[in-house]
Amino acid sequence: MASRFTGWKNMPIAAIIPWPGSTRENDRSSWRVLKPVIDQEKCVRCRMCWTYCPDGAIVETDKPYTTKSGRRYRITFEIDYRYCKGCGICAAECPVKAIAMVPEEV
Ligand code: SF4
Ligand code: SF4
Repeated sequence: MASRFTGWKNMPIAAIIPWPGSTRENDRSSWRVLKPVIDQEKCVRCRMCWTYCPDGAIVETDKPYTTKSGRRYRITFEIDYRYCKGCGICAAECPVKAIAMVPEEV
């Protein structure tokens, strides 16, 4: 059988990100089997999850939060589940294990 490959110049263009932030235009919520949940008591606001999330699904808000032990934060990180695909990178990178991946409820 003859090869259909006729050279790289004839390959269709793919995997292009045409403009910054284009990933936020796609709702990926239906992809998830597990979803990340942030334990605000454990979170130390380090931004690692925000940095590593490939889909910009972690949002820094200016909501203040005081832990039960009295530690005060001026910001809170939340998940925007419209864009979260449930990959678990945020949970793997969180240095204090403040993110749990829990089953998506149908
Ligand atoms: S599970 Fe993946 S897509 Fe969802 S917030 Fe974490 S890193 Fe982002
Ligand atoms: S990586 Fe963990 S501790 Fe850091 S901001 Fe995210 S949830 Fe909080």
